[in-house]
Amino acid sequence: MVIPKKIRIGGQDISVVNKERLDNDILGEICLAEGVLQIADTFRNIKQSESSKTNTFIHEIVHGILDTMGESKLSKNERFVCTFASLLVDPIEEIIKANMSREEDNE
Ligand SMILES: [Zn+2]
Repeated sequence: MVIPKKIRIGGQDISVVNKERLDNDILGEICLAEGVLQIADTFRNIKQSESSKTNTFIHEIVHGILDTMGESKLSKNERFVCTFASLLVDPIEEIIKANMSREEDNE
């Protein structure tokens, strides 16, 4: 999946930024106040794979959506966010695939 440079959550523009490393050696972070979603290239001195970055991206979006909804307790529940995000990745990939094959059909 190509990770977009910016996304919108609830009408708010959020820049998606790749960083070599994030504080506390985390995989990713979203800050709605700053409008920034950061993804780490390296995590515990290991390069984060492309599929892991996709998971991190969706994971942070789930945090962003829950925070926007005012569901801060649910957003702090990492187990919920991890499971929800990992289950969301597959249908998103399927939507992308379906759209790509449709574009190919139109060419
Ligand atoms: Zn998280």
